[in-house]
Parts: sequence; C-alpha cells; structure tokens
Amino acid sequence: MNPILSTKNLQVEFSGFKALKGVDLEVGEREIVTIIGPNGAGKSTLLDAIVSKSPVAAGKVYYQGKDITNKNPYEIARMGIGRKFQNPNVYNELTVFENILLALKGTHGIFDSITAKLTQTKRNKIIDVLDRIGLLDYAATPVSSLSHGQKQWVEIGMVIAQDPAVVLLDEPTAGMTPEETYMTGEIIKSLVHNHSVVAIEHDMEFVKQIAERIVVLHQGEKLAEGSVQEIQNNSKVIEVYLGREKIDVAATT
Ligand code: ADP
Ligand code: MG
Repeated sequence: MNPILSTKNLQVEFSGFKALKGVDLEVGEREIVTIIGPNGAGKSTLLDAIVSKSPVAAGKVYYQGKDITNKNPYEIARMGIGRKFQNPNVYNELTVFENILLALKGTHGIFDSITAKLTQTKRNKIIDVLDRIGLLDYAATPVSSLSHGQKQWVEIGMVIAQDPAVVLLDEPTAGMTPEETYMTGEIIKSLVHNHSVVAIEHDMEFVKQIAERIVVLHQGEKLAEGSVQEIQNNSKVIEVYLGREKIDVAATT
C-alpha cells in the first residue's frame, strides 16, 4: 500500500506519562480505518498528534509523502487533513446551509459568509454536501432545532466542505439513537468515494457496518490490526475486552 497518511513510531507524553508508546498507522487512499480500544487507550491522542493538537515527543507523521510532524494545525488542515472532534462545533443560530457555507474554503467569518454574493459554484457545492449528509431537506432549518445526531452530520458536512483528502472522526456516533448511528455509518461509507477516513468508534455493531480495516489500541500501543473477522478472533483483543460492556468482539456475526 502507498499510504496517504502514516505514522511511524509515534510517541506522545503528558508530563512523563506515555500516552502513545510508538504507534505505526497506515491509511490508504479512499480507505476507512477504524480505531477501537478501551477508554484511555490513546485513540483521541493519536488523532490529536496527527493534527498537532498534542505535541509529538518522538516518531513521525507523514502525509502525501511529506513529513508533517508537529506542523502548525492550521497548515495541516489546509494541506487536507480534516478533523471532527467529539463535541459538535456548529453555529446553532445559523441554518444548516449557512453552517456549510461558513466552512467552505475562501469564506472568512460569519459576516462575510452572510453578505457575500453566493456564486453558483459555491451553491452547488453546498447542495452536494447537504445531499451527502442527508440534510438536503433541512437546508433552511436553524441548527438549534436539529436532533443531536443531525448536528453531528452538520459537523461532518463542515469538515467535508473543505475538501480534505483525509477525514478524522472521533466517536462520530456518540450519543446517537440506533437509527442515527446506522445513518452515520452509511454517510461514512459514502465518504470514501472522495476521502480517506479514520474513525474512532466503540459501538461494535457500527464498526462491523463500516469497517474495512480495524486497528486496536491498548495502553498507548497497537495491540492488533486486521479485518472485523480477524479482530473478533484475536485472542489478545478478546482478553483486553473480556468483561467490558458495549464491546462484544467475541460475538459472531
Ligand atoms: P482514548 O481516546 O483512547 O479514550 P485518550 O487518547 O483520550 O484515550 O487518552 C489516553 C491517555 O492519555 C489517558 O490516560 C488520558 O488520561 C491521557 N491524556 C489525554 N490527553 C491528555 C492531556 N491533555 N493531558 C494529560 N493526559 C492526557
Ligand atoms: Mg477519546
């Protein structure tokens, strides 16, 4: 595989505590990589280190063949790595359409986005994004009146509106109903037509729905990597998850 994004021996420390102890990750073009692991395994830290939100103590991050380790987060976003955080970061008073407009490249601030004359290109682009996140019928709806799940989709829309080559999603289904979770899986699967996706997730049903390749983190290290089937049958993974609620890796599909 010629990865679009990779980490080599990535290490992150928080005042002496080793949150990542040398993680190798490879993400191919138009591939979904799902990261699972118990609480505190270092999943969010891995995404944080890729976008320089957490400082890398040792090791490297490569994107499209370039070393981007500890580069400025804005520069990393500009280069094409989009990141969705755990809590939706949307403008509640604005409509769904306006939120996506704000996220488009070349829009600077709320005032600009509301007053600027909307080109046909921008308009089409927004409509395309709304279609992909299943919110075309909600274009004129204020985000404040959307459900929790729909707000998460708006934020996914704001990330993909920036045309990132790689989309990083931290627990995109947190707090969602089963129906919303399923819909999120379908949205993510459609993203790979245009983007590579790295998704942190703990709902095993959801992981089975979207996963191509799974990486299991445990105590800052990569414990296992493989297909859903391989991970479910991996004795080290079963041991780590044994007795934990929510993750049912031992269950057969
Ligand atoms: P996960 O996302 O897998 O649940 P995290 O990556 O959030 O785990 O955290 C991994 C470990 O690093 C945890 O022990 C957590 O307490 C610690 N940690 C994460 N961020 C910080 C921080 N900013 N400062 C200190 N410790 C942190
Ligand atoms: Mg986390």
